[in-house]
Amino acid sequence: MKDMGAYRSVISVAFLAIVYMVGMVGMQGSSAGWFISLTPVTLLLSALVLTVNERVFSLKYLGLAASVFLLGFWVEYFGVQTGLIFGQYRYGSTLGLAWSGIPWVIGLNWWIMVVCTGGLAQSWAKGLLGRSLLGAAMMTLIDVLIEPVAIAQGYWSWEQSVPPIQNYVGWFGVSFVMHLVFHAVHPRQENPVSNYLLGLQILFFIVLNITIMGGTSILINALIVAGTFWFMEFMAWFTHRFLMHGLLWYLHKDHHQKEPGFFEKNDSFFLIFAIPSWLLIMFGMMNGNDFRVWIGAGIALYGFAYFLVHEVFIHQRFKWFRRSDNIYLRAIRKAHKVHHKHLGKEHGECFGMLIVPLKYYREARQSMAQPPSPAHE
Ligand SMILES: [Zn+2]
Ligand SMILES: [Zn+2]
Repeated sequence: MKDMGAYRSVISVAFLAIVYMVGMVGMQGSSAGWFISLTPVTLLLSALVLTVNERVFSLKYLGLAASVFLLGFWVEYFGVQTGLIFGQYRYGSTLGLAWSGIPWVIGLNWWIMVVCTGGLAQSWAKGLLGRSLLGAAMMTLIDVLIEPVAIAQGYWSWEQSVPPIQNYVGWFGVSFVMHLVFHAVHPRQENPVSNYLLGLQILFFIVLNITIMGGTSILINALIVAGTFWFMEFMAWFTHRFLMHGLLWYLHKDHHQKEPGFFEKNDSFFLIFAIPSWLLIMFGMMNGNDFRVWIGAGIALYGFAYFLVHEVFIHQRFKWFRRSDNIYLRAIRKAHKVHHKHLGKEHGECFGMLIVPLKYYREARQSMAQPPSPAHE
């Protein structure tokens, strides 16, 4: 039963990742309009996947979802009619089926956002008030990212062409009330998919913000490289956690149970990550050095950093930087040693590489007083 749930959430996250990636790339090309018109479908699929992964599915849950949906819908209706909540705005036709000018999926969107930020608020804050304030703050920040995209793609439009400050105050207030209801009824959410969906949505809106701004300046290209680099840390963690210690254990096994010879089957993962990097750089160059070059460069840079840290520094497959020593490097090595304590596929920990849990920094700081430990196996 536990395995079933784990597979369901992995498949769900992979599915959502594909949907959002396809949308992100599709909205750049000449058929952008067609991809934009699929926005309501994406929202429906997101809500469906979230619900399928809900652990405590009950009438109470349905009631909660319906309340947030209706509250969101009513707030939008009242807001468009009077301009009192968010300022003067109205909806375009992009978001599909509408009632009195309010698209149905907008209520769904409020629910998705409450579930996703609600999960994070519950793990980061304690108490009804703290969680609701944090959740509302997160939702307001996400709206800052959404607004330029919503205006550019015709989800909605503002009378003064840009959203007034009132909009963000209104967002905070409405989100806060929704979070109060959510955390009061549903104090332990534990939806295994919500954090990933939130990450995908944020990434999606960041990328679209960049393209709306033009995407050609050095600053923006540097941001794309840096964003891709850190996104790759997430991808590496995700792949290691769910695939290398899952379906692809066959390829990863000889990294945990060393066999003779320089190369490991595990090295094939470098190839797996190098191919999209090469393709992105090539297609980007063929299209006048567009943003794809910088995404490809970010992936390549991460691969290089991973190689230096994991193959050279930690496992010492090349005899370079053997004397390098500082708190960060010690923390990375400690965390990865903990990963290698487990020789098998199951019960792993510390799947990340460059981002290390804080406790290893603390241990590293304590050990700095002593001379560096000798290289490990
Ligand atoms: Zn491993
Ligand atoms: Zn290793």
